[in-house]
Amino acid sequence: MNVTRIIQKKRDGEALAPGEISAVIEGYVSGAVPGYQAAALAMAIYFQGMDESETSALTRVLLESGECLDWTGVEGLRVDKHSTGGQGDKVSLVLAPLAACCGLRVPMVAGRGLGPTGGTIDKLESIPGFRTDLGAADIRRITDEVGCVIASQGDKFAPADGKLYALRDVTATVASVPLITASIMSKKLAEGLDALVLDIKWGSGAFMKDIESARSLGAAMASVGESMGVRTSSLVTDMNQPLGRAVGNANEVREALAALSGEGPADLMEVVYELGALMLTSAGQSEDKAAARATLEEELASGRPLEKFREMARAQGGDAEADLELAPAREVRASRAGYVSAIDGEAIGYAVIALGGGRRSLEDTVDPSVGLQMRVCLGDEIEEGQPLLDLLSKGRGEEEALELVGTGVTIIDKPPSILPELICAQDF
Ligand code: URA
Repeated sequence: MNVTRIIQKKRDGEALAPGEISAVIEGYVSGAVPGYQAAALAMAIYFQGMDESETSALTRVLLESGECLDWTGVEGLRVDKHSTGGQGDKVSLVLAPLAACCGLRVPMVAGRGLGPTGGTIDKLESIPGFRTDLGAADIRRITDEVGCVIASQGDKFAPADGKLYALRDVTATVASVPLITASIMSKKLAEGLDALVLDIKWGSGAFMKDIESARSLGAAMASVGESMGVRTSSLVTDMNQPLGRAVGNANEVREALAALSGEGPADLMEVVYELGALMLTSAGQSEDKAAARATLEEELASGRPLEKFREMARAQGGDAEADLELAPAREVRASRAGYVSAIDGEAIGYAVIALGGGRRSLEDTVDPSVGLQMRVCLGDEIEEGQPLLDLLSKGRGEEEALELVGTGVTIIDKPPSILPELICAQDF
């Protein structure tokens, strides 16, 4: 196979055959195709896109590079949700145990922080002892015994995606609909699901900066999922400001535990309930959205999902009742009066990284105790000197974080005329 010719074909806008896609990806994984050729192909895909059959072929190659979970002999419908990522998105921590309490099996393979977006695995690892590097047998056992599990991709599930993603991350080729689709769907399809619900984020903190791109991503992912026999539905939700108040790791786990205790912020709970309702209806567990929502709300109020989260943590070696340390808080105050008209999610995400709560390179270790606590939302009227947010900081990177949040929150004289809807579109 002539790899240069394959790159040239895609560069010129031609569709690739499945064999051409697998030749480059398998060659890249084995070392036969150098990184610069894989990067050139990723860039060609970034600019030229891929049609449905190419995207499915790419997904299949990534999926088949690793293990798939086998559920023979395990009862129940397996349903998962996946978010394309943002700041403060701790929905999985609340929804996995809640959906399990409603009778679903949730075998979730989740990611670490990527660029300015946080990751479920990093958040969970702020719980002492919590292990996410689980093998297929443990995932199967815990799903069967507890009802939910949250594990990392590691090198077991779609390892070719892990390698390709690392390359995309440093070659500015992440924000591409076919590449994101194949990357996420390869991991999700390895879970052996009956149904999948996608939370496609749009806005300043998301990979997709406008609603239309988010809708296209949702449609592409649903089409790959359906073509591989998994009922796939999606919501487009807002990421023009953090979800909830906590952005970081340990503080996000604390907020998720508060949510499981019935004290979650309204925006977080709305996203949890909307996605949960899609999970229950797409699995046929609830007749319609209203019935699903009532079940979810009743279940949350019972306290069982909080106990389910603790049970999942214990099964994964963690103590969810431990006191999670937070770094000292330092208030950041408004330099003027007015209205909050924009919150730059990327600036917020990079501020957390500067404090040590995320990675600049793969080798970096994450300090779970640092992060941000938002004190204002889009549209809020504020006084000069009023706290906008707290930095949870141990001093490292504080100047850089202050600069980022200083430019990241925009204050104007008049109330902003349009505020983004939290739930923007549903495709079912
Ligand atoms: N999350 C993933 O797992 N892959 C992407 O390409 C983007 C977000």
